[in-house]
Amino acid sequence: MQLETKLVQAGVGKDEKTGAVNFPVYYATAYRHPTLGQSTGYDYTRTANPTRSVLEETIAEAESGDAGFACASGMAAVHTVMGLFSQGDHLIVSLDLYGGTYRLFEQVLSRYGLTFTYVDLRDIQKVAEAVRPETKAIFVETPTNPLMQITDIREVVQLAKRHELLTIVDNTFMTPYCQRPLELGADIVLHSATKYLGGHNDVLAGLIVTKGSQLSEKIRFLHNSIGAVLGPQDSWLLVRGMKTLALRMERHQSNAFAVASKLKEHSAVTEVFYPGLAEHPDHDVQKSQASGFSGMVSFRLKSVDQVGVFLQNLRLVSFAESLGGVESLCTYPTTQTHADIPQEIREYVGVCDRLLRLSVGIEHPDDLVADLTQALDASLVVGGAVR
Ligand SMILES: *Cc1c(COP(=O)(O)O)cnc(C)c1O
Repeated sequence: MQLETKLVQAGVGKDEKTGAVNFPVYYATAYRHPTLGQSTGYDYTRTANPTRSVLEETIAEAESGDAGFACASGMAAVHTVMGLFSQGDHLIVSLDLYGGTYRLFEQVLSRYGLTFTYVDLRDIQKVAEAVRPETKAIFVETPTNPLMQITDIREVVQLAKRHELLTIVDNTFMTPYCQRPLELGADIVLHSATKYLGGHNDVLAGLIVTKGSQLSEKIRFLHNSIGAVLGPQDSWLLVRGMKTLALRMERHQSNAFAVASKLKEHSAVTEVFYPGLAEHPDHDVQKSQASGFSGMVSFRLKSVDQVGVFLQNLRLVSFAESLGGVESLCTYPTTQTHADIPQEIREYVGVCDRLLRLSVGIEHPDDLVADLTQALDASLVVGGAVR
């Protein structure tokens, strides 16, 4: 069956007793044992929960993995995976990284003796040079957030395998509908399911998918030991969101094309970052490893003075943190998602104070383009004078 079908059919027919089409929410935290030494497969809800199992089986299949694990948030998923590593271990990480992941690595896990080197993973020579005897994994975010730089996953995997490193991919921006890193050789995929997988800006969740039974058992142990698991109600909400993933991603993407093309033409904008544009420097790499471009578009305004006026004038698009929901959002990475990254690093990477990030929703493209155009027009008029 195709991915679209598998997603829609998630949980259907799995509650055999009742035949419920939508798999029910099992709130029970404890499950009766038929007799000594026997189990229904469910004992205690942290270890396994029937509603969460439906979600975990669905994401494992969607990502072509062997096991899925649902966590309380994307950060909980990252933290759980980091439980694989021990004091003294070193990881190579995407330079342009989600701010929360950077914060976890630098302000929490560094205290446990893990070290991280941030490298532009598009430069495989630099990645090779960063490998040390104590290096254990390469942590990839592609596209990067918010600059939409694309890492060649196959190339990184090849290098990782040569040095016996794990390849971990944060697939939040692409979703398995557009990109399946495990099929390209990665070992672990993780998601902030709060974004596209949930899709409605109403559930906080994280997912991990593993390849291979050994790695799956290690993560299963960590997932249960750490206990940052997803609750049954949120598991149910996430399954419901994922049923429409394919339809939503198609619309996110076509709307992103419409918005990116319009932004490119506007005199208030100096640069547009969208991997779907033929002129994007990594466009060909993206096409070679993914079946789509998703719906995230970043752009730079001409001057920092325009930022406030632009945001203030948005009517349809909400000025809000997060991404991947049906509603369009605009984020200012400098003060929101990337505020915890020191200014000099942020600017070195290219996350400057003229950069804005759009999560293009599934509204009518004409309405989105009209709203962005009027806010951009207004940003050019400050204090009544056209600059
Ligand atoms: C949001 C996000 C996370 C963190 O996920 P939460 O669900 O907010 O904890 C991690 N990685 C990326 C790429 C994200 O966008």
